[in-house]
Amino acid sequence: MKIVVLPGDGIGPEIMAVAVRVLEAASKRFQLDLEIGHDIAGHASLQRHGATVTPALLEKVKAADGLMLGPMATYDFKDEAKGEINPSKFFRKELDLYANIRPARTFPGMAHRVGEFNLAVVRENTEGFYADRNIESGSSEMLITPDTVISLRRITRLCCERIARSAFDLARTRARHVSIVHKANVLKIGDGMFVDICRQVAREFPQVRVDDFIVDAMMAHVVRAPQRFDVIVTTNMFGDILSDLTAELSGSLGLGGSLNAGKDHAMGQAVHGSAPDIAGRNIANPYSLILSAGQLLGWHGQRKNLPAFALAARAIDETATAALQAREGTRDAGGELGTAEAGQSFVRRLLEGR
Ligand code: ATP
Ligand code: MG
Repeated sequence: MKIVVLPGDGIGPEIMAVAVRVLEAASKRFQLDLEIGHDIAGHASLQRHGATVTPALLEKVKAADGLMLGPMATYDFKDEAKGEINPSKFFRKELDLYANIRPARTFPGMAHRVGEFNLAVVRENTEGFYADRNIESGSSEMLITPDTVISLRRITRLCCERIARSAFDLARTRARHVSIVHKANVLKIGDGMFVDICRQVAREFPQVRVDDFIVDAMMAHVVRAPQRFDVIVTTNMFGDILSDLTAELSGSLGLGGSLNAGKDHAMGQAVHGSAPDIAGRNIANPYSLILSAGQLLGWHGQRKNLPAFALAARAIDETATAALQAREGTRDAGGELGTAEAGQSFVRRLLEGR
């Protein structure tokens, strides 16, 4: 497996350094055929090459199986003509990474707000209110007078169907329950179609239980009793909002890992942003990227039918549980360690298999 690593901004380099060491340790213990290439994107690349993502980098990423993308400070990327492209959005689109899988679970021994739970948000990643924001490529936002904006949202049968299938496939490997989250009472046609297609796909998975919830009510359900849920499938923007909530409910935003998966490529990425307020202080929680790295290995193992990769993914998950229970995490996760030290103890545990 070839993985390209792009560290990102803010806390990105600190937490990515840990994630890379974890990948190397997993590779050593499970004898994975793993090749890690290092490159840059975002601000670092804008300074050096005049673009946040260069054509050469895109080619390199396309030739690899996956990438690890660190958090990027994207607020000052305003002019795509000047090379200021949001790398996350760019790779999701170029590689057609349509399924954004964001697991959230509590860890034993860590204080949590709402009781123990273990769920995964499956968010559609290629259309809806996030698809494209520039006029040239079929805008979804238009300033029609200086005082009026129209935002368009595209929902297609194809994208509904493939995201539904991702959710049900995932549910088969978990507690076999899918909850469809939507606003079909208001967005009757678009979300109506989303729900219909999810329910059609559900018929191919008779062993998986299915229900559906209006997104606003869902917010209350998730806070009240997250243990009711297993896999939650939803459209782009609802998934974005819901997954920040579930990551934080699990104990800390710094525990939120995610995978952006397509047919031929996948990208591991933290749910959170670049956290400039804590950058460079060795206090950021590296687990978001550690868990994302685990997801990336698991995805490859499943796709290529390679049991060693699946075992490595599971070991990373189990090590996270054990290490956090022993309070070997950062402060936000109930521990006392710095970013690098939390990484070292993780690597030690992973290599020793405990
Ligand atoms: P960006 O614009 O890149 O999204 P932000 O200022 O919105 O940056 P986030 O990264 O989204 O910041 O983080 C929101 C809050 O959560 C911040 O206060 C940050 O310190 C905290 N946080 C985010 N990630 C982590 C982490 N990995 N470990 C510890 N705290 C984190
Ligand atoms: Mg943010």
